[in-house]
Amino acid sequence: MYQEVRLQERGQALEIEIVVQSHGGIRGRCSQCRRSAPGYDRLPGRRWQFVPLWGIVTWFCYAPRRVQCPEHGVVVEYLPWSDGKRPITCAMMGFLARWARRLSWRETARVFQTSWESVYRSVAWFVEWGLAERKLEGVQAIGVDEIHWGHGLRADNFLTVIYQIDSHCRRLLWVGPRRAEATLRCGLKALGAELVQGLRFVCSDMWKPYLNVLAAEAGHALHVLDRFHITMHLNQAVDQVRRAESSRLRAASTLKAKRLKHMRWPLLRRGSRVRGRAREKLNALLTSKLATARAWELKEVFAHFWKYKSAIWAGAFLDYWCQRAMRSRLEPMKKVARMLRSHEELILNWFRANGEISTGAVEGLNNKIRVVTRRSYGFRTYKAMEIALYHTLGRLPEPESAHSFC
Ligand SMILES: [Zn+2]
Repeated sequence: MYQEVRLQERGQALEIEIVVQSHGGIRGRCSQCRRSAPGYDRLPGRRWQFVPLWGIVTWFCYAPRRVQCPEHGVVVEYLPWSDGKRPITCAMMGFLARWARRLSWRETARVFQTSWESVYRSVAWFVEWGLAERKLEGVQAIGVDEIHWGHGLRADNFLTVIYQIDSHCRRLLWVGPRRAEATLRCGLKALGAELVQGLRFVCSDMWKPYLNVLAAEAGHALHVLDRFHITMHLNQAVDQVRRAESSRLRAASTLKAKRLKHMRWPLLRRGSRVRGRAREKLNALLTSKLATARAWELKEVFAHFWKYKSAIWAGAFLDYWCQRAMRSRLEPMKKVARMLRSHEELILNWFRANGEISTGAVEGLNNKIRVVTRRSYGFRTYKAMEIALYHTLGRLPEPESAHSFC
């Protein structure tokens, strides 16, 4: 192909146009099978955005030929810099997609003088390529979780995610809207029967639809309830007790209510990590006869559970703790105890997994997801966010490029 470069002004801005011409002696190739084929006609000229050169917006200009392929009929010729109908070169799509992991999509668009849509399209192309090329062999442990998204608690405000949580590879495998049984079924189906058959561990919350589907579809794998979810339920219970008591005290007298003021975060932290003035306040609270103090103590005692090595002793401790909680006359704590009891077997599987599942894997990936969804004010659709999640957490293979600057 023959090329000519011209610099020109469009309105205010300077642009570079790289005019590409086909080699007269070489026939075009079919875009479907890439075999050379006789020419048919020539389409009007088009432009593809290329990686900006010296900060100047740069375009490829070319009038593509159509060829007559014996197998595929009259089709547009294969263009090595382009994929489908996209008005951006592959090099530029890869370039934008890589930067879009470091900057927000809006910033990426501004810095490289293109539109938000171009960045979106580029990341979508990049992710599509990666999903088609990724290998799913050797997945032994998965974690399933729900992620809250946006405002409100409607079904549409939740996502279901499936992570790989093997120690050698932690990544997002699948994400889908809502958190129903159908959602998880759909996700496991997308990952394929082979992957599901090969699983040794599955890790999840106590969310009923997930438990049902995992029991039905992955019953051969050891099902573990994640430590971080149980801690979360305990913390929520302590917080409920505190809130109820706080408003009760405020209605009656102000003196005791003061003890609970600004105590939300100290109460939710692990006891050994509360220091300084918060510690003094916490100690004062603990000597009081307040319900919040008792709830907090129950939560702290439960941390001991995770120190066991054997499922039998851990089970005995769980019984003891649940009895104590049931006698506490604190409804939120009793609720946790009932929940733990009804899932006792799955909780004890934690000890049967024998440390083969890493504790923080699901929690860590959830935190990363939150970073992406919060940065997501620019994501106008669910689809855009889904793509961003695969892009940042999927560890997808990437198309090769001569223009990877980051
Ligand atoms: Zn063909």
